[in-house]
Amino acid sequence: MRPTYQVTELLGDGIGSELSRAIHTLADALPVRLEFLPVDLTLENRRAKKATIYDEAVASITATGVALKHPTATAEESPNAVLRRRLDLSVIHRPVYTIPGVPTNFRRELDLDIVRIATGGTYDDPGRMIGDDGAVSLRIVERGPVREAARYAFNLARKTSKRVTSASKYTIQKATDGLFESVTKEVAGQFPEVPHNVELFDALLGKVIMVPERFQIVLVLNEYGDFLSDMACGLAGSLGIGASANLAFDASGVVRVALFDAAHGTAPDIAGKGLANPTAIFLALSLLLYQLGEISVGQAVKNATLDLLREGVRTRDLGGGESTDTFTAAVAAEVNRRLSPAT
Ligand code: NAD
Repeated sequence: MRPTYQVTELLGDGIGSELSRAIHTLADALPVRLEFLPVDLTLENRRAKKATIYDEAVASITATGVALKHPTATAEESPNAVLRRRLDLSVIHRPVYTIPGVPTNFRRELDLDIVRIATGGTYDDPGRMIGDDGAVSLRIVERGPVREAARYAFNLARKTSKRVTSASKYTIQKATDGLFESVTKEVAGQFPEVPHNVELFDALLGKVIMVPERFQIVLVLNEYGDFLSDMACGLAGSLGIGASANLAFDASGVVRVALFDAAHGTAPDIAGKGLANPTAIFLALSLLLYQLGEISVGQAVKNATLDLLREGVRTRDLGGGESTDTFTAAVAAEVNRRLSPAT
């Protein structure tokens, strides 16, 4: 009997249906059974059902605890923003690594796990004018979300034998960033086996470019995470090929729900042509498998996908000749080969 997990699958627009087919083909090749519970977030259905479709999505995700989201067209509302708010997704885990076949100006290997507190910072207050010539805004840092993100980062480090770097401007922003570093230090104390160091955020940006191999898991406040993610994706050359985990926690700091998605959009220009590259959604699936505790299966999905890209098995956007279906079949066969018991 294969272990069975229920997963909410949020169906999307454009290439979303092709990606969903690819995910089902790959899931069939796994030694675990993923029972997908679909919720239709296509624009047509969102317009027909209005807010009730989000009620359905939230109820399903709350019950299953894990969701895989396909790209959706942003029109009247951004489904990502609605789900983030409704599910209280306060932390984003964004792995960024160099992907074989993706052209890049950066010649070094990069392999970062960015853990970002996705609320507060300067982003919750648009600010206000003081007279005509000045403006102020509030910067908000709260102990709760920092503790949740830090626990997540240190747990990830423990599971994957990695180091955690926390980065901020604690020397200048003494109250806000000072609170962030002090909570992080408190959590670090509960994980004595995990190496932890502190960097000033501006110095970190330079060092990630000069000595990227020194950094593994990086824990940061909201705006820093925003800047660092885009810089790292730019270095890796892969703004669109990554995936992320969006996380909400219960009162004791345990992940309550996790939503996984690809960074790219609905690619309307290639929809329905068999050209969609499923790499990012496969990487999202691999993160989902980690969350389910199926670490070796998640690693097989990630490594099989990256190794095939390295060998030149690629879709058209990466200069290869594979279609969505043939690339998917190759990944599924490779994952199956890697996970089959030796005969
Ligand atoms: P996009 O990512 O959809 O497309 C940008 C370019 O990248 C296009 O040329 C597209 O063909 C290509 N591309 C993207 N994903 C690809 C894939 N998997 N395989 C091969 N090529 C791929 O960005 P856009 O054109 O700015 O946005 C289109 C729509 O997607 C918009 O409605 C936008 O709101 C939405 N969007 C949704 C999400 C999300 O749901 N997470 C994220 C970004 C954009």
